[in-house]
Amino acid sequence: MTEKYTCGNNVEESGTYGCLNCGQTLELNEGDKLPPCPRCTNQSFEKITESNRDKFVQLDNEYTKNDSNNNNN
Ligand SMILES: [Zn+2]
Repeated sequence: MTEKYTCGNNVEESGTYGCLNCGQTLELNEGDKLPPCPRCTNQSFEKITESNRDKFVQLDNEYTKNDSNNNNN
């Protein structure tokens, strides 16, 4: 089950939320106020779950992976 969240509302559960426009992900804790997307300023988010996470870009993970590869060389 997926729920949409809009900028300015408090999130109901801790977890990872994804921007519905660009796929940017945000880690938020229960009760945090949802900010506009830091990447594209879109205001609609969805909570990321096992079933919908494929459509969100895990940008932070990609960068971490590339960084460690470069450092090893
Ligand atoms: Zn975005």
